[in-house]
Amino acid sequence: MSQFKNKLQRFMMGRYGIDSLYRFLIFLSLILLVINIFVPQIALWIAAMVVLLLSIMRTFSKNIITRRKENALYLKITKKLFGFIPRSIRRFKDRKTHVYKHCPNCKATLRLKKIKGPHTVDCPNCFNEFSVRIK
Ligand SMILES: [Zn+2]
Repeated sequence: MSQFKNKLQRFMMGRYGIDSLYRFLIFLSLILLVINIFVPQIALWIAAMVVLLLSIMRTFSKNIITRRKENALYLKITKKLFGFIPRSIRRFKDRKTHVYKHCPNCKATLRLKKIKGPHTVDCPNCFNEFSVRIK
């Protein structure tokens, strides 16, 4: 068993491996295959196999820099599309202890302690000083 593990380790040396994009592609191919059960289409099956093959080829690829760039692009896109979900959850959890205000200069979102009354705030992003009133 350990000999197999050694051989596998030697085989994977210098290869890219698994990342977030790999997991997404596997999930996508699985979804396509499940849809294919209910709507049997050869094009759908081929698309699922192409996606599956692509994800496997990425895992065993030795061109690590390009694979990292692809994954970084994927992460950037998903953050832009779905980044509001963890932010919204955090805001909801904080709603009794903190308020969120935007800097009038750089539009950065600032998380402030919920202490009633007028306050002066220094933006940590652009060092702009502005006043806010917390209700
Ligand atoms: Zn600012």
